[in-house]
Amino acid sequence: MLDKRNFYIDGKWITPSKQNDLKVINPSNEEAFAVISLGSKEDTDSAVKAAKKAFIKWKETSKEERIDLLEKLLTIYKKRSNEMSKVISMEMGSPIDYSSSTHTTSGQSHLEDFILRLKKFNFEVHFDSKSNNHVRYEPIGVCGLITPWNWPINQIALKVIPAFATGCTMILKPSEVAPISAMLFAEMIDEAGFPAGVFNLINGDGDGVGTDISGHPDIDMVSFTGSTRAGKLISKNAANTIKRVCLELGGKGGNIVFDDSYPNAVRDGIKNVMSNSGQSCDAPTRMLVQKSIYERAIKEAVDEANKIKVDIALKKGDHIGPVVSKVQYDKIINLIKSGINEGATLSAGGPELPDNLNKGYFIKPTIFTNVTNDMKIAKKEIFGPVLSIISFETEEQAIKITNDTEYGLGNYLQTEDKEKAKRVAKKLRSGVVYINGQGMDPGTPFGGYRQSGNGREGGIWGLEEYLEVKTITGWK
Ligand code: NAD
Repeated sequence: MLDKRNFYIDGKWITPSKQNDLKVINPSNEEAFAVISLGSKEDTDSAVKAAKKAFIKWKETSKEERIDLLEKLLTIYKKRSNEMSKVISMEMGSPIDYSSSTHTTSGQSHLEDFILRLKKFNFEVHFDSKSNNHVRYEPIGVCGLITPWNWPINQIALKVIPAFATGCTMILKPSEVAPISAMLFAEMIDEAGFPAGVFNLINGDGDGVGTDISGHPDIDMVSFTGSTRAGKLISKNAANTIKRVCLELGGKGGNIVFDDSYPNAVRDGIKNVMSNSGQSCDAPTRMLVQKSIYERAIKEAVDEANKIKVDIALKKGDHIGPVVSKVQYDKIINLIKSGINEGATLSAGGPELPDNLNKGYFIKPTIFTNVTNDMKIAKKEIFGPVLSIISFETEEQAIKITNDTEYGLGNYLQTEDKEKAKRVAKKLRSGVVYINGQGMDPGTPFGGYRQSGNGREGGIWGLEEYLEVKTITGWK
């Protein structure tokens, strides 16, 4: 059992102020493989004190000094990437090959891209040649960074790197369900030689350290990725101190498959929604299929879902792993049962364990057809390998159904008609629209409309979140 009970505060690994152990469970076998501590208010206070003190010097560092440290961190990250992939697989169940090719590389890609953006970013802006006013960007201060378990290092890199880059100091509270990748990242930060107090890590749960962070008077900004439920609580708790609150929340993405889509559009949609065992905020969980190709699409979708293997995370190969925890497993199984009870047709998968497994939080790739958008399975973020297929007749109907959700994170559309693709993309109310399976390039902004949040992460937008803007008159 790994002993990971210490916190990283003021450049040192220290014992928590009170003992409060939590076991970290490997979802592939339901066994504990590490123990961490849940922190208390005293721990948060010491981390905030260290970050506040470190901010005085760190905010004055040059861009070049920060780039130099980030480049050192990148070298160490690449060197230790196998360790990173392994802990991600153990803590949240991603298959090892998928962890290496997708999870771990996402951290590297964010590091590389933020270094590039920082090199080009101009912190001093001369407002107008006729004006004697000057506008400059300054770091916002001490940041509380709260992250989820589903893309652990991706979410951490999207917050920690821009905070470093802009001259902020920080307290990271990773998910208590999958905290080991964060602790490995803290070891790398320590090895890179960032000054003491610039980065601090405390483990804890939402009611404890999470709430202490959002309400803390000496924290200037909270950047949160997680559920819409927790995002609302954080916003309310942060209101008393008027800190900046950046939220990256849940989603219920639509994937519109028009009858003129490319041949593999349905099959690609299935692979996409089932990857990471359906645990992605921008997963295309509602497939909207044009009526004229509905029967063919269902056959392809079911065939593709039945081809997907489910197996333990540390096994090499192309399969999906378990979902992260017993809590998530029970929630997903209940939602699958609710789909059956509401009258949707269960066309693939279902609530039973896959035949090859008798323990672990495994769920078969599940497809519901004949779904209507008012059913619970079409409205709730299920966060498991479960797809709802809905039919539509016209372009207007497809747009209306896709937008008929409280979320607005990632939507998808498939058509070979370029003009139609652009027309529809502009009408979808979400922070990202993926046309014909094209991915996002590094440096593009990611975030949501409506109850999917209010922040944008990545690229210059991701840097700007950590900056205040100051106007100085009489500059010339
Ligand atoms: P969660 O909201 O339960 O927990 C996320 C983090 O918030 C954890 O660190 C948790 O301890 C903390 N937390 C929980 N309650 C809190 C509170 N009241 N105050 C402060 N902190 C609190 O979410 P999760 O189950 O870990 O992650 C899955 C969710 O994250 C999904 O809804 C998913 O869509 C969302 N997500 C969004 C994005 C995005 O960029 N929009 C990316 C990944 C995941």
